[in-house]
Amino acid sequence: MSQTISAILDSQTSLVQAAAEALPHQFSQCTHALGHIRQAVYLCLTCAVPRGICAACSIACHTDHEQLELFPKRAFRCDCPTAALAHLCALHRTPEPENTRNAYGQNFRGAFCRCGRAYDAARERETMIQCLTCEDWFHESCLSLRERPLSRASTPEAGVPAQEVDDAASEASSNDLPPPLIRADNYDALICAACVRSIPVVRRYAGTPGALMVVRDVPGGPWSVIGREAESGANVEVETVEARKGLDTGVGEKRARSPTKGESDAPNAKRARVSPEASSSPACLAPPVNSLAQQIFDKSLSKMDGAATSSGEEDVCGEGDVFLTEGFRDRWCQCSSCLLSFETYPCLLEEEETYEPPEDPDSGLSLEELGMRALLRLPRERALDGIRAFNQMRDELMSHLRPFAQEGKEVTESDIRAFFEERMAAARGGVGESS
Ligand SMILES: [Zn+2]
Ligand SMILES: [Zn+2]
Ligand SMILES: [Zn+2]
Ligand SMILES: [Zn+2]
Ligand SMILES: [Zn+2]
Ligand SMILES: [Zn+2]
Repeated sequence: MSQTISAILDSQTSLVQAAAEALPHQFSQCTHALGHIRQAVYLCLTCAVPRGICAACSIACHTDHEQLELFPKRAFRCDCPTAALAHLCALHRTPEPENTRNAYGQNFRGAFCRCGRAYDAARERETMIQCLTCEDWFHESCLSLRERPLSRASTPEAGVPAQEVDDAASEASSNDLPPPLIRADNYDALICAACVRSIPVVRRYAGTPGALMVVRDVPGGPWSVIGREAESGANVEVETVEARKGLDTGVGEKRARSPTKGESDAPNAKRARVSPEASSSPACLAPPVNSLAQQIFDKSLSKMDGAATSSGEEDVCGEGDVFLTEGFRDRWCQCSSCLLSFETYPCLLEEEETYEPPEDPDSGLSLEELGMRALLRLPRERALDGIRAFNQMRDELMSHLRPFAQEGKEVTESDIRAFFEERMAAARGGVGESS
């Protein structure tokens, strides 16, 4: 079991595998065995497009490959151990048949947003937002939240090293842009126009309080926002009645979940007050439709009917996206007809669980686990650089272990652990422990 590290290093085996053999602990697992789950998915441009691999495989099996993180995708099963990838999976050794149930949207070909642009972490100046239902990513400018930054469109700063486009710099450059029409902390979820068009119950809510839309009166005119809750008072659909009667003290307090003992649960209580006669099959409490929003969808739907009905042509007018504000899942009407329409889209009713690599506090940490945690700790917008960071860490570990190789010494777990402890201490000293 114990072998000299020199033999391993000499044989071109990646250090990831070398460390795995030196450490008697459980190796990070490919998620293939877990089946179709919502998880962070990586696109390996070197191996196969359109396919996706799990986070563990992105590190253990495709370290030196060109990759793109696609972030969470639901119902996705890792393709790494399957026949779809010629590259052998280092974590899941049994060859598996191709996954037939995975959906490979345009992200799996490296295209994003309704504009279909490629993503380049080093050059992208815009924040991108993920659609809750289709899980594609959209530029703020394509959502009509901002003007498109000019520099990116005209002259992409070719050859700028990734490290120079750091957080501070990208922060500064987005400060040059006008503020977005809807700030990120003012909504909870985006549903892109194409998804809104295809989900009637969401279309019905578009532009009503808490389902913001960016619209304009005339083509080329200024954009404005409809559906702000402040415009008509918070929670207008149930509380205007109560407010007028002065029945409830919590007017305007959306989350006033007063634990009044006599009453059952709040939603039922609300419903009962508004339509007391219909307790068995409650009437639909969806807010009155916003006619401007409906016009927009009618127009684009009829335009699409006229054109080829294939899903290929996406309108780029930037209208029809819906930004749902906090608590939107609690605000949907619970009548049987609305609920039935929502059932096809569980993510609209309940926040989905996203798989995270298991923590294993009892056993020592494997190199993969340490690497994964380092990746998870990176700020979101830098995560696409994570592979690069991991490669750098691997190189440093390599030089840390080289003396062992030269002396023909055995590498122990504590040697590897010492390396990481040093690194962690250095990182902490640099950031937190200044005082
Ligand atoms: Zn995998
Ligand atoms: Zn690969
Ligand atoms: Zn793999
Ligand atoms: Zn775009
Ligand atoms: Zn969508
Ligand atoms: Zn309803």
